[in-house]
Amino acid sequence: MERPTPYFEINESKLQRDFDKLTTSLKENWSNYRIGYSFKTNSLPWLVRFYQKQGVSAEVVSQDEYSLARYMEFRDDEIIYNGPYKSRQSFRDVVLAGGIVNMDSQFELDWLTELSKEYPEKTLNVGIRVNFNLEAMCPGETTMGEESGRFGYSYEDGTFAKILEQVRAIPNVRVNGIHLHSSSKSRSVAIFKSIADMACRLKREFQLCLDYVDIGGGYCGGLKGRPEFPDYFPVVAEVLSEEFKPEETTLVVEPGISLLSSATTFTTSIIDVRDIRGSRYLISDGSRFNIDATMIKNSYLYHTELQSGKERKIMENQTITGYTCMECDRLFEMKDLPELFVGDRIVYENVGGYTLSLNPLFIQYFPDVYVNRGEETVKVREKWTPKEYVQNCVWERK
Ligand SMILES: *Cc1c(COP(=O)(O)O)cnc(C)c1O
Repeated sequence: MERPTPYFEINESKLQRDFDKLTTSLKENWSNYRIGYSFKTNSLPWLVRFYQKQGVSAEVVSQDEYSLARYMEFRDDEIIYNGPYKSRQSFRDVVLAGGIVNMDSQFELDWLTELSKEYPEKTLNVGIRVNFNLEAMCPGETTMGEESGRFGYSYEDGTFAKILEQVRAIPNVRVNGIHLHSSSKSRSVAIFKSIADMACRLKREFQLCLDYVDIGGGYCGGLKGRPEFPDYFPVVAEVLSEEFKPEETTLVVEPGISLLSSATTFTTSIIDVRDIRGSRYLISDGSRFNIDATMIKNSYLYHTELQSGKERKIMENQTITGYTCMECDRLFEMKDLPELFVGDRIVYENVGGYTLSLNPLFIQYFPDVYVNRGEETVKVREKWTPKEYVQNCVWERK
Protein backbone atom coordinates (compact mmCIF):
# COMPACT_ATOMS: atom_id res chain seq x y z
CA MET A 1 0.00 0.00 0.00
CA GLU A 2 1.22 3.47 -0.80
CA ARG A 3 2.12 5.59 2.16
CA PRO A 4 -0.16 8.52 2.88
CA THR A 5 1.31 11.86 1.88
CA PRO A 6 2.76 14.26 2.72
CA TYR A 7 5.97 12.93 4.23
CA PHE A 8 9.67 13.58 4.37
CA GLU A 9 12.00 10.70 3.64
CA ILE A 10 15.68 10.48 4.46
CA ASN A 11 17.82 8.02 2.57
CA GLU A 12 20.29 6.60 5.05
CA SER A 13 22.89 5.37 2.58
CA LYS A 14 23.05 8.77 0.87
CA LEU A 15 23.34 10.41 4.26
CA GLN A 16 26.24 8.14 5.14
CA ARG A 17 27.86 8.70 1.75
CA ASP A 18 27.86 12.48 2.22
CA PHE A 19 29.11 12.22 5.79
CA ASP A 20 31.94 9.93 4.65
CA LYS A 21 32.88 12.43 1.96
CA LEU A 22 33.27 15.05 4.66
CA THR A 23 35.35 12.95 7.03
CA THR A 24 37.53 11.53 4.26
CA SER A 25 38.35 14.97 2.94
CA LEU A 26 39.08 16.30 6.41
CA LYS A 27 41.31 13.32 7.27
CA GLU A 28 43.26 13.72 4.06
CA ASN A 29 43.81 17.43 4.46
CA TRP A 30 43.80 18.32 8.16
CA SER A 31 43.81 15.19 10.27
CA ASN A 32 43.14 17.13 13.48
CA TYR A 33 39.53 18.12 12.94
CA ARG A 34 36.27 18.34 14.81
CA ILE A 35 32.79 18.37 13.32
CA GLY A 36 29.96 20.27 15.00
CA TYR A 37 26.62 19.36 13.48
CA SER A 38 24.49 22.47 13.06
CA PHE A 39 21.33 21.76 15.09
CA LYS A 40 19.39 24.63 13.61
CA THR A 41 19.64 23.13 10.12
CA ASN A 42 17.66 20.04 11.11
CA SER A 43 17.48 18.74 14.66
CA LEU A 44 15.29 15.71 14.00
CA PRO A 45 16.29 13.37 16.85
CA TRP A 46 16.96 10.39 14.59
CA LEU A 47 19.30 12.53 12.50
CA VAL A 48 21.07 14.02 15.48
CA ARG A 49 21.70 10.52 16.83
CA PHE A 50 22.94 9.36 13.41
CA TYR A 51 25.74 11.96 13.55
CA GLN A 52 26.31 11.64 17.28
CA LYS A 53 27.06 7.91 16.91
CA GLN A 54 29.85 8.88 14.52
CA GLY A 55 31.54 11.21 16.97
CA VAL A 56 30.11 14.53 15.94
CA SER A 57 29.67 17.41 18.41
CA ALA A 58 26.47 19.44 18.73
CA GLU A 59 26.70 22.97 17.31
CA VAL A 60 23.98 24.92 19.09
CA VAL A 61 22.93 28.56 19.03
CA SER A 62 20.37 28.92 21.80
CA GLN A 63 19.45 27.70 25.26
CA ASP A 64 16.74 25.48 23.75
CA GLU A 65 19.12 23.89 21.25
CA TYR A 66 21.62 23.40 24.05
CA SER A 67 18.92 21.71 26.15
CA LEU A 68 17.99 19.48 23.24
CA ALA A 69 21.63 18.46 22.83
CA ARG A 70 21.82 17.61 26.54
CA TYR A 71 18.50 15.74 26.27
CA MET A 72 20.03 13.75 23.41
CA GLU A 73 22.91 12.93 25.80
CA PHE A 74 25.67 15.08 24.41
CA ARG A 75 28.08 15.92 27.22
CA ASP A 76 29.00 19.54 27.86
CA ASP A 77 32.42 18.97 26.34
CA GLU A 78 30.70 17.76 23.17
CA ILE A 79 28.95 21.09 22.70
CA ILE A 80 30.00 23.89 20.34
CA TYR A 81 28.09 26.87 21.65
CA ASN A 82 27.66 29.78 19.25
CA GLY A 83 25.45 32.76 18.61
CA PRO A 84 24.23 35.88 20.37
CA TYR A 85 21.59 34.16 22.53
CA LYS A 86 23.20 31.94 25.14
CA SER A 87 21.95 31.50 28.69
CA ARG A 88 24.21 32.19 31.62
CA GLN A 89 23.95 28.74 33.17
CA SER A 90 24.60 26.83 29.96
CA PHE A 91 27.49 29.19 29.09
CA ARG A 92 29.05 28.39 32.45
CA ASP A 93 28.47 24.65 32.13
CA VAL A 94 30.07 24.42 28.69
CA VAL A 95 33.05 26.64 29.57
CA LEU A 96 33.72 24.68 32.78
CA ALA A 97 33.45 21.32 31.01
CA GLY A 98 35.91 22.41 28.30
CA GLY A 99 33.40 22.51 25.44
CA ILE A 100 33.80 25.11 22.72
CA VAL A 101 32.17 28.46 23.45
CA ASN A 102 32.49 31.18 20.85
CA MET A 103 31.70 34.57 22.37
CA ASP A 104 29.37 36.77 20.39
CA SER A 105 27.79 39.18 22.88
CA GLN A 106 29.01 41.69 25.40
CA PHE A 107 27.31 40.05 28.42
CA GLU A 108 29.46 36.96 27.92
CA LEU A 109 32.42 39.03 29.07
CA ASP A 110 30.70 39.60 32.42
CA TRP A 111 29.91 35.91 32.76
CA LEU A 112 33.56 35.07 32.07
CA THR A 113 34.73 37.58 34.65
CA GLU A 114 32.42 36.01 37.24
CA LEU A 115 33.62 32.51 36.38
CA SER A 116 37.25 33.52 36.64
CA LYS A 117 36.66 34.85 40.15
CA GLU A 118 34.80 31.73 41.22
CA TYR A 119 37.38 29.32 39.77
CA PRO A 120 40.75 31.02 40.21
CA GLU A 121 42.55 27.67 40.08
CA LYS A 122 41.09 26.68 36.72
CA THR A 123 42.17 27.76 33.24
CA LEU A 124 39.08 28.82 31.35
CA ASN A 125 39.11 28.70 27.56
CA VAL A 126 36.94 30.69 25.24
CA GLY A 127 36.76 31.45 21.54
CA ILE A 128 35.75 34.68 19.82
CA ARG A 129 33.42 35.06 16.86
CA VAL A 130 35.02 37.37 14.32
CA ASN A 131 33.07 39.79 12.19
CA PHE A 132 35.05 40.73 9.11
CA ASN A 133 34.46 42.17 5.68
CA LEU A 134 34.21 39.00 3.64
CA GLU A 135 32.32 40.88 0.94
CA ALA A 136 35.47 42.89 0.20
CA MET A 137 37.38 39.64 -0.30
CA CYS A 138 34.63 37.92 -2.33
CA PRO A 139 32.56 40.66 -4.02
CA GLY A 140 28.96 39.76 -4.65
CA GLU A 141 29.15 36.43 -2.86
CA THR A 142 28.06 37.09 0.71
CA THR A 143 24.55 37.20 2.12
CA MET A 144 25.06 40.53 3.84
CA GLY A 145 26.57 42.22 0.78
CA GLU A 146 27.93 45.72 1.28
CA GLU A 147 26.19 46.03 4.60
CA SER A 148 28.01 44.50 7.55
CA GLY A 149 27.02 41.19 9.05
CA ARG A 150 25.74 41.47 12.60
CA PHE A 151 27.52 38.58 14.32
CA GLY A 152 30.72 38.63 16.27
CA TYR A 153 33.27 41.35 16.95
CA SER A 154 34.36 43.52 14.07
CA TYR A 155 37.94 43.20 12.90
CA GLU A 156 37.80 46.36 10.80
CA ASP A 157 36.27 48.52 13.56
CA GLY A 158 38.73 47.31 16.17
CA THR A 159 36.12 45.71 18.44
CA PHE A 160 37.81 42.34 17.91
CA ALA A 161 41.11 43.81 19.13
CA LYS A 162 39.28 45.33 22.07
CA ILE A 163 37.45 42.20 23.20
CA LEU A 164 40.65 40.22 22.78
CA GLU A 165 42.40 42.62 25.10
CA GLN A 166 39.53 42.51 27.59
CA VAL A 167 39.39 38.72 27.68
CA ARG A 168 43.16 38.45 27.94
CA ALA A 169 43.03 40.78 30.94
CA ILE A 170 40.80 38.40 32.91
CA PRO A 171 42.97 36.22 35.14
CA ASN A 172 43.19 32.55 34.14
CA VAL A 173 41.15 33.03 30.97
CA ARG A 174 42.61 32.14 27.61
CA VAL A 175 41.39 32.83 24.09
CA ASN A 176 41.85 29.39 22.58
CA GLY A 177 39.96 29.73 19.32
CA ILE A 178 38.43 31.96 16.71
CA HIS A 179 35.12 31.45 14.97
CA LEU A 180 34.75 32.75 11.43
CA HIS A 181 31.41 31.34 10.28
CA SER A 182 29.98 33.54 7.52
CA SER A 183 26.96 32.92 5.39
CA SER A 184 27.35 33.30 1.68
CA LYS A 185 25.09 33.07 -1.33
CA SER A 186 27.76 31.38 -3.39
CA ARG A 187 29.02 28.78 -0.87
CA SER A 188 32.13 28.86 -3.08
CA VAL A 189 35.59 27.49 -2.39
CA ALA A 190 36.80 31.12 -2.57
CA ILE A 191 34.67 31.98 0.48
CA PHE A 192 36.42 29.33 2.56
CA LYS A 193 39.82 30.27 1.21
CA SER A 194 39.15 33.85 2.37
CA ILE A 195 38.00 32.62 5.77
CA ALA A 196 41.25 30.67 6.12
CA ASP A 197 43.21 33.74 4.97
CA MET A 198 41.49 35.78 7.66
CA ALA A 199 42.38 33.20 10.32
CA CYS A 200 46.05 33.48 9.32
CA ARG A 201 45.92 37.25 9.32
CA LEU A 202 44.42 37.35 12.82
CA LYS A 203 46.98 34.93 14.15
CA ARG A 204 49.84 37.05 12.78
CA GLU A 205 48.42 40.38 13.79
CA PHE A 206 47.45 39.43 17.35
CA GLN A 207 50.04 36.71 18.07
CA LEU A 208 47.25 34.25 18.79
CA CYS A 209 48.02 30.82 20.13
CA LEU A 210 45.00 28.81 19.08
CA ASP A 211 43.73 25.34 19.95
CA TYR A 212 41.19 25.64 17.18
CA VAL A 213 40.17 27.60 14.12
CA ASP A 214 36.45 27.26 13.53
CA ILE A 215 35.58 28.01 9.90
CA GLY A 216 31.86 27.37 10.48
CA GLY A 217 29.31 25.95 8.06
CA GLY A 218 27.80 27.06 4.79
CA TYR A 219 29.20 24.42 2.40
CA CYS A 220 27.54 23.04 -0.68
CA GLY A 221 26.97 19.35 -0.98
CA GLY A 222 25.12 16.96 -3.25
CA LEU A 223 24.28 19.54 -5.92
CA LYS A 224 25.41 18.96 -9.48
CA GLY A 225 27.91 21.50 -10.74
CA ARG A 226 28.52 22.95 -7.29
CA PRO A 227 31.46 22.45 -4.93
CA GLU A 228 31.59 19.45 -2.62
CA PHE A 229 33.55 18.67 0.54
CA PRO A 230 36.62 17.38 -1.37
CA ASP A 231 36.85 20.75 -3.13
CA TYR A 232 36.99 22.86 0.02
CA PHE A 233 39.45 21.28 2.40
CA PRO A 234 42.59 21.03 0.25
CA VAL A 235 42.35 24.79 -0.28
CA VAL A 236 41.55 25.56 3.36
CA ALA A 237 44.42 23.35 4.55
CA GLU A 238 46.90 24.92 2.15
CA VAL A 239 46.11 28.41 3.41
CA LEU A 240 45.96 27.43 7.08
CA SER A 241 49.35 25.75 6.90
CA GLU A 242 50.98 29.14 6.38
CA GLU A 243 50.36 29.85 10.06
CA PHE A 244 49.02 26.70 11.72
CA LYS A 245 49.98 23.06 12.18
CA PRO A 246 47.53 20.18 12.54
CA GLU A 247 49.54 18.98 15.56
CA GLU A 248 48.68 22.17 17.41
CA THR A 249 45.45 23.49 16.01
CA THR A 250 42.15 21.71 15.42
CA LEU A 251 40.13 22.65 12.36
CA VAL A 252 36.51 22.94 13.46
CA VAL A 253 33.76 22.74 10.85
CA GLU A 254 30.05 23.20 11.41
CA PRO A 255 28.24 21.73 8.43
CA GLY A 256 24.48 21.59 8.21
CA ILE A 257 22.66 21.61 4.90
CA SER A 258 25.57 20.15 2.92
CA LEU A 259 25.37 16.94 4.96
CA LEU A 260 21.76 16.07 4.46
CA SER A 261 20.27 17.99 1.59
CA SER A 262 20.62 15.45 -1.15
CA ALA A 263 19.49 12.58 1.10
CA THR A 264 16.09 14.07 1.83
CA THR A 265 12.86 14.24 -0.20
CA PHE A 266 9.35 15.50 0.47
CA THR A 267 6.52 13.59 -1.17
CA THR A 268 3.17 15.27 -1.80
CA SER A 269 -0.02 14.43 -3.71
CA ILE A 270 -2.33 16.49 -5.87
CA ILE A 271 -5.63 16.69 -4.01
CA ASP A 272 -7.60 18.93 -6.34
CA VAL A 273 -7.41 20.36 -9.83
CA ARG A 274 -9.20 23.58 -10.66
CA ASP A 275 -9.44 25.96 -13.60
CA ILE A 276 -10.00 29.61 -12.80
CA ARG A 277 -10.18 32.24 -15.51
CA GLY A 278 -7.90 30.31 -17.79
CA SER A 279 -5.40 29.24 -15.13
CA ARG A 280 -4.97 25.65 -14.01
CA TYR A 281 -4.25 25.28 -10.30
CA LEU A 282 -3.11 22.03 -8.78
CA ILE A 283 -3.74 21.98 -5.04
CA SER A 284 -1.36 19.67 -3.21
CA ASP A 285 -1.16 18.32 0.32
CA GLY A 286 2.35 19.76 0.70
CA SER A 287 2.78 23.43 1.36
CA ARG A 288 5.48 25.94 0.64
CA PHE A 289 5.58 26.28 4.43
CA ASN A 290 6.91 22.70 4.62
CA ILE A 291 9.93 23.30 2.42
CA ASP A 292 10.38 27.05 2.10
CA ALA A 293 8.95 28.60 5.23
CA THR A 294 10.95 31.80 4.79
CA MET A 295 9.60 32.17 1.23
CA ILE A 296 12.98 32.78 -0.38
CA LYS A 297 13.23 29.99 -2.94
CA ASN A 298 12.41 30.71 -6.54
CA SER A 299 12.86 27.21 -7.91
CA TYR A 300 12.53 23.66 -6.66
CA LEU A 301 14.17 20.42 -7.60
CA TYR A 302 11.44 17.84 -8.06
CA HIS A 303 10.19 14.90 -10.03
CA THR A 304 6.67 13.66 -10.59
CA GLU A 305 5.21 10.20 -10.03
CA LEU A 306 2.23 9.93 -12.33
CA GLN A 307 -0.50 7.32 -12.11
CA SER A 308 -0.54 4.98 -15.09
CA GLY A 309 -3.42 4.45 -17.48
CA LYS A 310 -4.42 8.08 -17.86
CA GLU A 311 -4.58 10.02 -21.04
CA ARG A 312 -2.67 13.25 -20.51
CA LYS A 313 -2.73 16.24 -22.78
CA ILE A 314 0.11 18.76 -22.74
CA MET A 315 -0.80 21.79 -20.66
CA GLU A 316 0.66 25.18 -21.39
CA ASN A 317 0.76 26.03 -17.70
CA GLN A 318 -0.10 24.39 -14.38
CA THR A 319 0.52 26.15 -11.07
CA ILE A 320 1.40 23.90 -8.15
CA THR A 321 0.12 25.27 -4.87
CA GLY A 322 -0.04 24.17 -1.27
CA TYR A 323 -3.03 23.43 0.94
CA THR A 324 -2.94 26.58 3.03
CA CYS A 325 -5.36 29.41 2.48
CA MET A 326 -2.60 31.90 1.72
CA GLU A 327 -2.21 33.06 -1.85
CA CYS A 328 1.57 33.10 -1.52
CA ASP A 329 1.49 29.35 -0.96
CA ARG A 330 2.38 28.67 -4.59
CA LEU A 331 5.38 26.53 -5.32
CA PHE A 332 6.14 26.47 -9.00
CA GLU A 333 4.71 26.43 -12.51
CA MET A 334 4.86 23.54 -14.93
CA LYS A 335 5.10 24.76 -18.51
CA ASP A 336 4.21 22.60 -21.52
CA LEU A 337 4.08 19.40 -19.53
CA PRO A 338 1.52 16.58 -19.31
CA GLU A 339 -1.51 17.46 -17.24
CA LEU A 340 -1.59 16.21 -13.69
CA PHE A 341 -4.55 14.62 -11.95
CA VAL A 342 -5.70 14.13 -8.40
CA GLY A 343 -3.55 11.40 -6.87
CA ASP A 344 -0.40 12.13 -8.90
CA ARG A 345 2.61 12.78 -6.73
CA ILE A 346 5.26 15.47 -6.66
CA VAL A 347 8.48 14.57 -4.93
CA TYR A 348 10.69 17.50 -3.94
CA GLU A 349 14.39 16.76 -3.76
CA ASN A 350 17.20 18.29 -1.70
CA VAL A 351 14.94 19.37 1.13
CA GLY A 352 16.89 18.21 4.18
CA GLY A 353 18.02 21.58 5.54
CA TYR A 354 15.94 24.42 6.97
CA THR A 355 12.67 22.55 6.38
CA LEU A 356 11.84 20.20 9.27
CA SER A 357 13.30 22.72 11.72
CA LEU A 358 11.59 25.71 10.11
CA ASN A 359 8.16 24.23 9.50
CA PRO A 360 5.41 26.28 11.17
CA LEU A 361 2.39 24.64 12.77
CA PHE A 362 0.16 26.49 10.36
CA ILE A 363 -3.15 24.88 9.31
CA GLN A 364 -1.61 21.39 9.26
CA TYR A 365 0.71 19.98 11.91
CA PHE A 366 4.16 18.45 11.35
CA PRO A 367 4.11 15.66 8.73
CA ASP A 368 5.45 12.10 9.01
CA VAL A 369 9.17 11.50 8.56
CA TYR A 370 10.57 8.20 7.30
CA VAL A 371 14.07 6.86 7.01
CA ASN A 372 14.80 4.57 4.09
CA ARG A 373 17.38 2.03 5.24
CA GLY A 374 17.52 0.02 2.02
CA GLU A 375 15.78 -3.20 2.99
CA GLU A 376 13.34 -1.45 5.32
CA THR A 377 11.74 1.92 5.84
CA VAL A 378 11.12 3.14 9.37
CA LYS A 379 8.98 5.98 10.57
CA VAL A 380 11.12 8.23 12.76
CA ARG A 381 8.54 10.88 13.41
CA GLU A 382 4.80 10.35 13.58
CA LYS A 383 2.63 13.09 12.17
CA TRP A 384 1.57 15.51 14.88
CA THR A 385 -2.03 15.45 16.04
CA PRO A 386 -4.01 17.86 18.24
CA LYS A 387 -2.60 15.93 21.21
CA GLU A 388 0.95 17.17 20.50
CA TYR A 389 -0.32 20.55 19.45
CA VAL A 390 -2.09 21.26 22.75
CA GLN A 391 0.65 19.92 25.00
CA ASN A 392 1.62 22.47 27.65
CA CYS A 393 -1.54 24.50 27.00
CA VAL A 394 -4.10 25.34 29.63
CA TRP A 395 -7.79 25.83 28.94
CA GLU A 396 -11.07 25.37 30.64
CA ARG A 397 -12.44 21.82 30.36
CA LYS A 398 -15.93 21.41 29.02
C1 LIG B 1 23.75 28.18 10.23
C2 LIG B 1 25.06 27.92 10.81
C3 LIG B 1 25.81 26.78 10.44
C4 LIG B 1 25.34 25.78 9.40
O1 LIG B 1 25.11 26.36 8.16
P1 LIG B 1 24.76 25.47 6.87
O2 LIG B 1 24.50 26.49 5.82
O3 LIG B 1 23.51 24.68 7.21
O4 LIG B 1 25.92 24.61 6.60
C5 LIG B 1 27.01 26.59 11.08
N1 LIG B 1 27.48 27.46 12.01
C6 LIG B 1 26.79 28.54 12.38
C7 LIG B 1 27.34 29.45 13.42
C8 LIG B 1 25.56 28.82 11.79
O5 LIG B 1 24.89 29.93 12.17
